[in-house]
Amino acid sequence: MRLVCPVCGERDRREFYYQGAALARPEGDAWAPDWDDYLHNRDNPAGVTRDLWQHEQGCGAWLIVTRDTVTHEVLAVALAAEAGA
Ligand SMILES: [Zn+2]
Repeated sequence: MRLVCPVCGERDRREFYYQGAALARPEGDAWAPDWDDYLHNRDNPAGVTRDLWQHEQGCGAWLIVTRDTVTHEVLAVALAAEAGA
């Protein structure tokens, strides 16, 4: 798999560190069950996902990668700071 880093261009997947699903953090005054779900529970969907990756062996940028886990197609890559993650 190859990813197109918005800063560096197209690179091999092995240059990137996969962090996991790009989830919205609960609000600061959220209830404990919301934080428990955010920290511990993950879906394993077949289809389009939004994941957080770091270009660890490149520019170091955090990225939001939208991809399809069935077809392995990468649909979009955006800087996390600009994607609201
Ligand atoms: Zn990069």
